[in-house]
Amino acid sequence: MDSERTVAQALEEVKAVIAGACAKSGRCPDDVEIIGVTKTHGPEVVREAWEAGIRILGENKVQEAAWKIAESVGGPEWHLVGHLQRNKARPALELFSAIHSVDSVRLLEQLERVAEETGQRPEILLEVNVSGEASKDGLRPESAPEVIEYALGCRNVTLAGLMTLAPFCPDPELARPVFAKLRECRDRWERQFGIGLPRLSMGMSNDYAVAVEEGATWVRLGTVLFGSRPKWKPEPEARWEP
Ligand SMILES: *Cc1c(COP(=O)(O)O)cnc(C)c1O
Repeated sequence: MDSERTVAQALEEVKAVIAGACAKSGRCPDDVEIIGVTKTHGPEVVREAWEAGIRILGENKVQEAAWKIAESVGGPEWHLVGHLQRNKARPALELFSAIHSVDSVRLLEQLERVAEETGQRPEILLEVNVSGEASKDGLRPESAPEVIEYALGCRNVTLAGLMTLAPFCPDPELARPVFAKLRECRDRWERQFGIGLPRLSMGMSNDYAVAVEEGATWVRLGTVLFGSRPKWKPEPEARWEP
């Protein structure tokens, strides 16, 4: 970001864009929450985000989040928005109140097992690969019902909704069909299973206006709030290690 632009100013602009997208699509801006994605940024950015009024922060790696959350101002709710390996389920649940990236029964089983032991009550989202890009993580839509059925039997984790990543393209309109398809999946599975899936996590800096028009309730924003990401340089004391 231009160095003169503060997070608070960027946030005001983002809120105006969200209000515009809501007006266009007949939605209420209160139904859209901003998740500030602080990956690669340090605790000073976390503080700035918190002071600007952002209440939910997202990280995409468990290890990076572990030191950052420990060194950061208390208060924000933290969400994991990146891929999660099963062997990191335990530290992930210590750090995050919501996991956006559940993409298998085996991962869900592990989260349920750890949550049962620790008494945590995380919200989880299923990450659905609606665009069909081979490189993307996430469940193909036809594999999701099996995971939903498993989630319905879980007593500790709550299936709260769906998440998707749109393929990056300079023209956000090209992401619209992906977001629309995630909403259609949500509507279909709500009917099929007789459940509510209120959260739709979709939209990033480049395409969040379109995502809001298509029903996003959580937009995951990094660059538009915090500027371009610094390249991570490993530090001598290797403080990324747990
Ligand atoms: C980095 C990241 C974001 C934010 O990306 P921007 O384009 O900087 O807004 C959102 N979601 C996920 C899963 C990410 O990894």
